[in-house]
Amino acid sequence: MATNPQPASQKELKLLTGKFQQLLAKVAENRPSDDLEIIRKAYDFSLKHHQGQTRASGEPYLIHPLEVSLVLADMKLDSTAIAAGLLHDAIEDTGVTHEDVRREFGEQVVHIVEGVTKIDKINLASREERQAENVRKMVLAMVDDIRVVLIKLADRLHNMRTLKHLPEERRQQVAKETLEIYAPLAHRLGMGKVRGELEDLSFRYVDPIGYDQVRKEVESHRKAGESFLAKAVKILQQKLKENGVEAKVESRIKRLYSIHQKLLRQRITVDQVYDLLAVRIITKSVKDCYTALGAIHQMWRPLPGRIKDFIAMPRPNLYQSLHTTVITEDGHQFEVQIRTEEMHKMAEEGIAAHWKYKDGTPVSAKDEQRLAWLRQVVEWQQDVKDPNEFLSTLKVDLYPEEVYCFTPMGKVVILPRDASAIDFAYAIHTEIGHTCIGAKVNGRIVPLRNKLRNGDVVEIMTQPGHNPSRDWLGFAKSTRARNKIRHWLNIHQRERAIEIGKKLLEKQARKYRLALKDFNEKTMETIAKEYGLGGGQDLLAGIGYGKYSARQVLAKLSPEISEQVPNEEPAKTGSTIGTVIRRVFGQSADTGAIKVKGYNDLLVYRARCCNPIRGEAIVGYVTRGKGVAVHAVSCPNVNNLMYEADRRIGVEWAKAPKMAKNDGRGTYPVKLTVFCDDRPAMLKQLTAVISDDNTNIRNIEARTADSQATIDIVIDIEDVKHLERVISGLRKIPGIHDVQRLNKV
Ligand code: MN
Repeated sequence: MATNPQPASQKELKLLTGKFQQLLAKVAENRPSDDLEIIRKAYDFSLKHHQGQTRASGEPYLIHPLEVSLVLADMKLDSTAIAAGLLHDAIEDTGVTHEDVRREFGEQVVHIVEGVTKIDKINLASREERQAENVRKMVLAMVDDIRVVLIKLADRLHNMRTLKHLPEERRQQVAKETLEIYAPLAHRLGMGKVRGELEDLSFRYVDPIGYDQVRKEVESHRKAGESFLAKAVKILQQKLKENGVEAKVESRIKRLYSIHQKLLRQRITVDQVYDLLAVRIITKSVKDCYTALGAIHQMWRPLPGRIKDFIAMPRPNLYQSLHTTVITEDGHQFEVQIRTEEMHKMAEEGIAAHWKYKDGTPVSAKDEQRLAWLRQVVEWQQDVKDPNEFLSTLKVDLYPEEVYCFTPMGKVVILPRDASAIDFAYAIHTEIGHTCIGAKVNGRIVPLRNKLRNGDVVEIMTQPGHNPSRDWLGFAKSTRARNKIRHWLNIHQRERAIEIGKKLLEKQARKYRLALKDFNEKTMETIAKEYGLGGGQDLLAGIGYGKYSARQVLAKLSPEISEQVPNEEPAKTGSTIGTVIRRVFGQSADTGAIKVKGYNDLLVYRARCCNPIRGEAIVGYVTRGKGVAVHAVSCPNVNNLMYEADRRIGVEWAKAPKMAKNDGRGTYPVKLTVFCDDRPAMLKQLTAVISDDNTNIRNIEARTADSQATIDIVIDIEDVKHLERVISGLRKIPGIHDVQRLNKV
């Protein structure tokens, strides 16, 4: 588009006005009850704003929106759509803003124009061919008003009709995009006429040589074909009349692009295309369709396998017709398509055919049934106040389960609705998913859990060595991402368990001066089977998880050792085994459950006998079947338990989670017993000291005897330092003799 500061000449104005009058006349004819005022206003508005702009053809730019609107008027669209058609390039190509259009034309028009602009902004060209279907779906998913798609198709139709004015390179690009995206879209919406024209227009640019070949061949058949068809039409008209069928009979030579495709697909020559020549019979009723078919087959022999009943079994886009290919007595073969007027309109105009019947009449249940497919693809509000508004209430949600996003390189990624950047990352590559640390959506950093929307451009930030987090399962929606995350967590948790199991077994073996390598894999397998396990790795994992004791397993591996005296090594803290594993865990909620970052929660738990709290010296003990019990080093049970030194495991507190104080999270209930004088205000003073440290009191019980009191308090404690502060605070209160911590809560 070039900008020419000169106002449109008289001649140009006359051309535009003429087109505009044509448009008004057409709308007035097709939709007599529609308000033409909004169309006039839209025309004046775009005349003003596109002023001085010219198309590549040299014509005033406004010709384009006018032609687009004429196509829309042919589709019998409403005045809102026509107005939007006139304005469809205004926001993109002139200084006009959304606000201007909203103010002048209202919410509906601006919404439609925005929809068209949004599709324009997607760079549909230069994508891989296998992406085409996704792009088509995405275009449909992006619009919530079917008129947006129809305007886009009309826009493309006019651009294709005038494509010759563009430079060669652009032609190729636009034609390819039309063939891959827009023609199939028209097909999807059942708009046979638009599709056919788009295809033939694109074909000549995308494949000029192929186009020429097919055109020449068809031309060479055309004359004979046309005169044959003329004869056949006459005979058919006569035959139908004899059978009492009132019908229109038309003939056509197949479109070039569909011939071309057929030639490619079936590796045949033009002569062998059954439906190169076709006759179409358009009847008043379905019954007449079948009567006509019977009459034709009486006259001409049908080709076996070529009779198709798309009336009983409509195509997915609701195309309905009877097809047959017949051979005349002189050997000519041609296709006959038989359908009712309604079916014909559907075949030619598809989704656009729907509302023109509806004009002025409410949608009946029968219509709904007839257009079942439309119900599948189109949702319309049930509370239509004005039946004339039927069209405007058509809401498109063609793929409600999916969301379409782009990589920065323009690849389309289809995800389930409500998917997040994590899903996107895993859709690209498993490793991208595993190492994902953040995401940019449309250039801005967003939280990973944010939901993605249609058309979002998503860029995943990764960091080598970063690992999946269990939290991701909270917002990953795609099966793929969920499986990959779970798989990773399982594997890594299991790997740890195997590692631990192996060390435990090795340590046990060393006592008998054996090495693990002394046991062959087969023995391991056999023992594993005894435990009902799949293999040796499972056995090691089982030891690691604490399900089986290393001693037992060793005894099975090497039965003779049960008679030997073990070569006991004194267990020393920080020994190999003690450093095998550094359990990292935090505390969640007040349930007492232990969360282990990235690992199975069951693996570690706080022993109930001592309830260790954060900061206390702790030691882990591999139990049989319950995982690792964590005791305070001071726990009286530890000395008893740790006689089996090989079950001892080094553990360590995780860094304190950042949490609001006193919200009950990240704290442990600790029971204190206070021995003190029974005097007034003792309780008040005591609770004041505790509250001063922002400590939550869960329970308090006091018993008195002989002016002495014993007070049991359960408080929520964050860590050892916190506990020490509270205890020393209490000890400073006059009249308090002692404060003791009770291990059992
Ligand atoms: Mn346009």
